[in-house]
Amino acid sequence: MSWLVQSRLVNDPFSDPGVYLDFSYGRRAILFDLGDVGGLSSRELLRVSHVFVSHTHVDHVAGFDRLFRLCLHRPSPLTLIGPPGFAVQVEHRIRSFTWNLLDENSVDFCIRAMDYDGSRLVKAAEFHAREAFARRDREPPAFPEGIAWMEDEFKVEAAALDHGIPSLAFALREVLQVNVWRGVLGEMGLPPGPWLNEAKRAVRLGLPDAHMVTVPTEGSIRLGELRDRALRVAPGQAVAYVTDAAPHAENRAKILRLAQKADQLFIEAVFLERDRPLALASHHLTAWDAGAIAREAGVRHVTPFHHSARYLSEPDVLREELFESFDAADRAAMTG
Ligand SMILES: [Zn+2]
Ligand SMILES: [Zn+2]
Repeated sequence: MSWLVQSRLVNDPFSDPGVYLDFSYGRRAILFDLGDVGGLSSRELLRVSHVFVSHTHVDHVAGFDRLFRLCLHRPSPLTLIGPPGFAVQVEHRIRSFTWNLLDENSVDFCIRAMDYDGSRLVKAAEFHAREAFARRDREPPAFPEGIAWMEDEFKVEAAALDHGIPSLAFALREVLQVNVWRGVLGEMGLPPGPWLNEAKRAVRLGLPDAHMVTVPTEGSIRLGELRDRALRVAPGQAVAYVTDAAPHAENRAKILRLAQKADQLFIEAVFLERDRPLALASHHLTAWDAGAIAREAGVRHVTPFHHSARYLSEPDVLREELFESFDAADRAAMTG
């Protein structure tokens, strides 16, 4: 498979929630949530261009300081998107440090913070190092309803779930998936190599057939010819991230819409079904809920996380309950 992004949990399922989405062709990454990022190297964090924060409970945002500090010397901006009130919270966090050593000769690192209200971006602020991170209000980008970010090759859909407070869930959907028929490439006398990433990107961007793709040492080839013979184009992958959601019907309906047919669903499994009163009291899903939602949404792979520390002595039980629930329909079909 040649996905645009490779996704993985930042930490083990008992530690802070978060997913790292690594772009396979470039020096770039996206984060869903920003808890403890100790599991990521500085190099990995420096590639992060966008962070989507579900809500600002400390286990979802405590990694801000490390990321921010690392980025201070990089010229490319960092965009953070969170629930209503988020931009002001980011400002307060920045204000809690002293910036007298910054001036017009500093690297002009820029951090952008935006509020997403469940259907659109409603607020945006920018903070520049050369202005000692004074706040500048901006007009937020106007994306279609339900979309928190959009570029040529992917979009990030978002829904506001109820967690006592709003908690955003996200789904990155790639526009197209482009794979290479290696055998055909060989028959055409074309070498493998990084140039193929540029060709794939050109297909995802919908560039015209006449667009010339440069092939090192071989010259160039028309994009149309390369695509028709050596590339296989399919719908792109979807990676959904769902956390901190009360177990009720309204949340369930929103999650099902967002995660529909996702290739990969990362979903919280905080308590066992036998401890449902705890799940209700703290507005979290049980492992059984999470598995059932994953099954009903028709996702291909599901990964549980955000396990409660009360199960540390039996670390597999949440995972087992989730998969029992996820596979329940298959077994019913087999036996029935
Ligand atoms: Zn929370
Ligand atoms: Zn949490």
